[in-house]
Amino acid sequence: MKKGLFPLLIAAAMLSACGTAPAEETVTAAETTTTAETEVTYAKLEYEIDPSKPVVALTFDDGPNTTTTAQVLDKLELYGVPASFFLIGNNINDASAEVVKRAYQMGCEIDNHSKSHAYMNQMEADAIIEEVMYVSDKVEEITGEPTKFFRPPYIATNTTMYDNIDMPFICGVGCNDWDNMVTVQQRIDNTLNQVQDGTIILLHDAQGNIKTVEALDTIIPALLDEGYQFVTVSELFESKGVEISADDSNLYTIIQ
Ligand SMILES: [Zn+2]
Repeated sequence: MKKGLFPLLIAAAMLSACGTAPAEETVTAAETTTTAETEVTYAKLEYEIDPSKPVVALTFDDGPNTTTTAQVLDKLELYGVPASFFLIGNNINDASAEVVKRAYQMGCEIDNHSKSHAYMNQMEADAIIEEVMYVSDKVEEITGEPTKFFRPPYIATNTTMYDNIDMPFICGVGCNDWDNMVTVQQRIDNTLNQVQDGTIILLHDAQGNIKTVEALDTIIPALLDEGYQFVTVSELFESKGVEISADDSNLYTIIQ
């Protein structure tokens, strides 16, 4: 098992300060604002996939935000493993978009969890399309790529959704970590007890979900010790040689 290299955070700050102070007598409406442009780039996680060894995909729903999502990324960076993030469109703003950019630059996959996180099995086709296209377009603005996979809110699906969403539907094995009553140890035990080769692990990086951040400190090392390789959802399908189709009506949890 080759562990990923610990990535380096490369902060390339390009500051440009230009312009001269206006002469005192001209201090009127024509005030010049100097903007410092800061470009930060993040090192891509380095890892290799050995097809003869078991694989697992960590996935996180309900972000992005600048707190918990960032803490999850810190853990991924620490252990050198990627994950896939299923975003809620309404959580994307200028600040959280920076966190999405960081995840993408690290090599994480950015996926789709709808705009408003409503029960989409109660929506008309037009509204369903609007929900997913909003997120895909926002993500494309940030990363340059549309979203590849869709996780239905509350895992509620129907044929209208399958007919109108051009992405494979992803579920996964969960540990009810959206419920704050579920302890860190329960999150760890429920996750580790369910994982097998090809499993999609369903967790949440909703704002304040610190117990899941803490659980990662046990879940990731335990699975690495067992020889699991962490991959994105796309890489999981690739490594198993499973062709994905936007037209199927599957709800994927374990890829074999
Ligand atoms: Zn959700």
